[in-house]
Amino acid sequence: PTTITDELGIALSNLADSATGVLTPTLRLGVTGLSRAGKTIFITALVHNLLTQGRLPGFGPLADGRFIGARLAEYPDATIPRFAYEQHLAALSANPPIWPESTRRISQLRLVLKFQSAKWWGGMTGPATLNLDIVDYPGEWLLDLPLLGLGFAEWSTEALERARQPGHADEAAEFLAALDQTDISKDANDPDAERLASTFTTYLRRSREHGALSTLPPGRFLLPGDLEGSPALTFAPLPPLAGKRTGSLHAMLENRYEAYKAQVVRPFFRDHFARLDRQVVLVDTLRALNTGPAAVNDLETALTSVLSCFRQGDANPLLRPFSRRIDRILFAATKADHVHHTSHDRLEAILNRLVANARKRAIFAGAETKSIAMAGIRATSEGTIREGADTLPTLVGTPIDGEVLDGATYDGKTEIALFPGDLPARPDSLFENGSPVALNFLRFTPPQKLERNASGDVVLPHIRLDRALDYLIGDWMA
Ligand code: GDP
Repeated sequence: PTTITDELGIALSNLADSATGVLTPTLRLGVTGLSRAGKTIFITALVHNLLTQGRLPGFGPLADGRFIGARLAEYPDATIPRFAYEQHLAALSANPPIWPESTRRISQLRLVLKFQSAKWWGGMTGPATLNLDIVDYPGEWLLDLPLLGLGFAEWSTEALERARQPGHADEAAEFLAALDQTDISKDANDPDAERLASTFTTYLRRSREHGALSTLPPGRFLLPGDLEGSPALTFAPLPPLAGKRTGSLHAMLENRYEAYKAQVVRPFFRDHFARLDRQVVLVDTLRALNTGPAAVNDLETALTSVLSCFRQGDANPLLRPFSRRIDRILFAATKADHVHHTSHDRLEAILNRLVANARKRAIFAGAETKSIAMAGIRATSEGTIREGADTLPTLVGTPIDGEVLDGATYDGKTEIALFPGDLPARPDSLFENGSPVALNFLRFTPPQKLERNASGDVVLPHIRLDRALDYLIGDWMA
């Protein structure tokens, strides 16, 4: 219904972009992934490596000696929170270093990149400039796209059916009981609405703790951002009501559901998502592998729904109002420093297999994709141990305080060598017979001793961050 205004809004903002961007092209890079996939670490590492000209041999402009420098700049839209780069870097370089706070809402940051163009006229025009706008947002928010096509009654039917499935009995019991005890035809009142919404949110949260991610919109219920507690987030699915009445609890929640769509979901897709040029989707593949076959399948389903948002408008009518322009999507398996480098190709192959279905179903018309295994910040180094006649590859790192493996509990201060285990050579075996992978998986503290470069800046070690960067922005700096 509001598609005309949507289109007008996008057209106007694109116009504004081109007016201010006559001299400086702007590349908007979206960074997403489900909770704890590694978005905060990826962005912090990317920004730091660009600002300090870190070790990025695979990043074309730097390798060619054409990269002049980067600086942080004021973000043009003052209404969106800024990505807390300095705080995150401070946490990572503290003594002892700690992992920074994860993404909870949308945030943005602008970097201005100066480089010498490789084009033949580059020498005549002097250094070129590119604005790199990084947009960090929870992947959970993408799960809301289907809601735009669902009315309250349809969504409620789906959501209640799911909650009543035997597999969800424990998680949903409290919500279903609250629903039973509530007369939804009586007058609207906030305490009832709040109780239903909070028990419903608890159900979603518990499902997620048990590993389910895929089927659980609304995304803001899990990651509310700045909307926590607001009426647009205070609703729940309800059974159909014969004889609808304005002023009833049922009508109140239906209105709020519609408000959520109109005032939260739609503006996010229109004002942020639709304006991205490039996208990186981070995936914590290793954690799913380590949890077991059910988690792997669930991750696959979740990725399929997340990735359906990257379909072009023709394939996905819900996206038609938001003229999109993403032309490259990078899938990155994060935290690759948890396996030995001899397993990195396998990790990439597994990620490829995870997104294959999504890729088949979604027509990324006009967008190319690539999969990569990487670590924004490398918390381990590599070594070997001898076991009898065998030499085993190991990881050396400091497990986080409280981590347990083989009966040993770690204190966050002790460095150990660990044989991480091998990933399967054929990713299909993971999906076909659902055989678990035997990984020794521990969470490590950030690197304890960071080197400094000639200018005194810390050097953050990474794995293939340079390749990721090259794929995402290299061609804009040609
Ligand atoms: P997000 O912002 O929610 O996507 O996630 P974060 O970037 O905050 O990452 C969540 C956690 O994963 C961090 O606190 C780290 O413990 C871990 N992590 C993220 N990236 C890396 C990495 O490159 N290497 C290692 N070892 N751990 C990582």
